[in-house]
Amino acid sequence: MTTPYSHHHRLFLVLLVLVHYSCTSSSSDSSIIISRFREYLQINTAQPNPNYREAAEFLVSQANFLSLDSQVLEFVPGKPLVLLKWPGKSPSLPSILLNSHTDVVPSEHHKWSHPPFEAHLDSSTGNIFARGSQDMKCVGMQYLEAIRKLKASGFQPLRTVYLSFVPDEEVGGHDGAEKFADSEVFKKMNVGVLLDEGLASPDEFYRVFYAERAPWWLVIKATGAPGHGAKLYDNSAMENLLKSIESIRRFRAAQFDLVKSGSRAEGQVISVNMAFLKAGTPSPTGFVMNLQPSEAQAGFDIRVPPTADPSSLERRIAEEWAPSSRNMTFEFKQKTSVYDKFGKPILTALDSSNPWWALLEAAIKKANGKLGKPEIFPASTDARYFRDRGLPAIGFSPMANTPILLHDHNEFLNKDEYLKGIDMYVSIIEAYASFDEQTRDEASRAEL
Ligand SMILES: [Zn+2]
Repeated sequence: MTTPYSHHHRLFLVLLVLVHYSCTSSSSDSSIIISRFREYLQINTAQPNPNYREAAEFLVSQANFLSLDSQVLEFVPGKPLVLLKWPGKSPSLPSILLNSHTDVVPSEHHKWSHPPFEAHLDSSTGNIFARGSQDMKCVGMQYLEAIRKLKASGFQPLRTVYLSFVPDEEVGGHDGAEKFADSEVFKKMNVGVLLDEGLASPDEFYRVFYAERAPWWLVIKATGAPGHGAKLYDNSAMENLLKSIESIRRFRAAQFDLVKSGSRAEGQVISVNMAFLKAGTPSPTGFVMNLQPSEAQAGFDIRVPPTADPSSLERRIAEEWAPSSRNMTFEFKQKTSVYDKFGKPILTALDSSNPWWALLEAAIKKANGKLGKPEIFPASTDARYFRDRGLPAIGFSPMANTPILLHDHNEFLNKDEYLKGIDMYVSIIEAYASFDEQTRDEASRAEL
């Protein structure tokens, strides 16, 4: 076949096409990246009936595109955990685990400006509105996008990189991360470090977490002689309970003052909030008004940082908040230890014993991100199940310049922040997966 073009002409045309392609590819790349994120957000994985099947299918198809090994584990039937693997060149080195949860909390649809599973992209601001846009489908997809970029650049990991997409974090993680961390599969993965979720940051500094507070759910109960509503007497159940509540409120105010004055961060103090009050003698129209009841109860959500002394709090509960001398008893609906199974406070060291911390700091800096002071997570995440085994775990969701809207109405993430976050993970995964030293922690674990 003949062609009307000379060799020169043809080369020029090819160059023109290439120039055109490279000018447009980055913006079309990012719109494809954003549409993949929105696709994941559109899967309704809200508790209590998350569509885990559809999420798992989506994630496995993403893994297939990226040529990652995938398996779907069901520690509990109907609650799939998607485990992906990018094998490293030195599989004997401890691996990297990138964890995220697939479920989200419910939402009150009518209070949202856009339906929470539409993943509406506001064209003027670039904000993407969806339940899970911050907590934490963003992170799960950012891991995958970062791996896509690393693969495209020809990067090959030295250490094996795993990604776990776990169910049920929002309902305690017992059928998800907890069973996973206890499993034979997990043991064989030989994980050396884990990344999990953090929180958005309203300023330009990313937040990073090295520990979390342990939930203690305390119920105190007062008893006393019942009596006529008109009688003044000591030791009624109501009076006994109120004395305790006053004492608890003083403790709460003192802890809160430390936060208000700026001398402690939220995660560094013991928080106490009343969750319920239960007392009174019911009547068809409400409560009997001329009777002082013989029993009264109150429940408290207490969060204890691993830096606090739990035994002094236990003493305070037994001696001040629910003393038997005032006919009071107490029980814990939940009481998570602040110590791991080796008897050490459950926190990830940020000193020279943990090289992963320095690597993370350097990687974020290299990608032009700014990191705030490491914090204790105020609530609970799945990271606790891994820290409990002595594993270093860092909580990090790269969302700067973003209002904290997890579990709130109109949860959103801006598309540019999302894209920037992918670059953070490119840098982190590259640094982690290239790290070729046996760390001290790893060496001591290997001896166990
Ligand atoms: Zn979360």
